[in-house]
Amino acid sequence: MSDTAEKAEALRQRVRAFIQTKVPAHYIERTRGGLGLGKQEQEHWHSLLDSEGWLVNHWPQEWGGPGWSPWERYVFDYETAVGNAPRILPFGVSMLAPVILKFGSQQQKERWLPRIRSGADWWCQGYSEPGAGSDLASLKTTAVRDGDHYVVNGQKTWTTLGQHANMMFCLVRTHASAKAQEGISFLLIDMDTPGIEVRPLYLLNGEHEVNEVFLQDVRVPVENLVGEENKGWDCAKYLLTYERTGIAGVGICISLFNRLRAVAAKAQRNGRPLIEDMLFRQKLARVWMDIANLKETNLRILMKAARDGVPGAESSILKILGTEIRQELFSLLRQAAGSRALTLYGAEAQDLDACPTELLTASENYFNHRKLSIFGGSNEVQKNILSKFVLGL
Ligand SMILES: Cc1cc2nc3c(=O)[nH]c(=O)nc-3n(C[C@H](O)[C@H](O)[C@H](O)COP(=O)(O)OP(=O)(O)OC[C@H]3O[C@@H](n4cnc5c(N)ncnc54)[C@H](O)[C@@H]3O)c2cc1C
Repeated sequence: MSDTAEKAEALRQRVRAFIQTKVPAHYIERTRGGLGLGKQEQEHWHSLLDSEGWLVNHWPQEWGGPGWSPWERYVFDYETAVGNAPRILPFGVSMLAPVILKFGSQQQKERWLPRIRSGADWWCQGYSEPGAGSDLASLKTTAVRDGDHYVVNGQKTWTTLGQHANMMFCLVRTHASAKAQEGISFLLIDMDTPGIEVRPLYLLNGEHEVNEVFLQDVRVPVENLVGEENKGWDCAKYLLTYERTGIAGVGICISLFNRLRAVAAKAQRNGRPLIEDMLFRQKLARVWMDIANLKETNLRILMKAARDGVPGAESSILKILGTEIRQELFSLLRQAAGSRALTLYGAEAQDLDACPTELLTASENYFNHRKLSIFGGSNEVQKNILSKFVLGL
């Protein structure tokens, strides 16, 4: 076995032991049911990972990264997902941090990176606006220079977990340039600044997961500008490739598939286990082949990223495949749950012990995960990116 493979194998064993001995059982149970953690639990989860040296696992070693190869990172993501450990919240650790590492000043690195790692700040992403989603470059929130501050006015929307955040990385218009992409800047905004109001939005499953953020005459110190003024589009695009690569979730797909298979083995249809139903078996086989393809593609793209330094436009392939497969798995899980998926809907379900979490949350997850093909750039838009930058059409 090569040195790299040996290291990855040793890590695999450490991660499995960690999940068995150190991760609280209810974190695993919630994740298995497709549910997130509360704010304090999420912070605790990050601190548990950090104490193993695994939280900022793709950062350079000088900033606390473990110096893993892409293969070790893959093993870590895979084992934590298959073991139903909670996910790492991406906003600070794997979305903002790469931008600061590439575009930030030394001062910004020293200030923000340790705070991301320690959990001192909870970050949210202020990109989308009511009139700027897929066409992000048409964003209208303005930042006007006033001495050593910018004065920000506008509205952001779909801000995930913004209700918990004390900081937001935000795209703002600093110049009414002829070309939309050229007048945008990347600002770090303290959510406690006067003039900011966060209002909840409720998703299809009734969850308060996203928000609207209103900004009125919000004063942001100029030192919170990352990169050059009017060059924020470079930061924005760079961040999005990381966001999309992270959405693929091979391990999550396999974990979901295992749950689905277990549920289908127990559920009865016409007096026989559902898993013996020919039509259902075909659907299972189909989705399993898709997962196998996703796994290979993910590895190929990871290896290329290891060579080139950053994930490229190919991250759009992972985004499309990973999200379509997860949506199909949630759909099949809901079918397998049958009529129980109709009656046991979220908070209405009282008797948690009487029913496995994956059935209890089958409908909730089905509805909630419609979001996967929309956020991080919709799947249709990813196809445009692929046709232009990969196929050269
Ligand atoms: C649950 C959830 C969480 C989110 N979290 C965040 C967050 O934390 N921060 C943040 O900034 N944003 C967030 N978003 C916003 C997300 O990035 C946008 O919803 C997404 O970019 C799509 O934009 P839109 O909703 O304005 O839809 P639109 O851009 O209006 O698109 C509507 C439809 O038209 C299609 N379409 C649009 N343009 C094209 C085109 N050129 N070619 C083909 N089809 C096209 C789209 O695919 C879509 O089906 C979140 C969204 C959701 C649903």
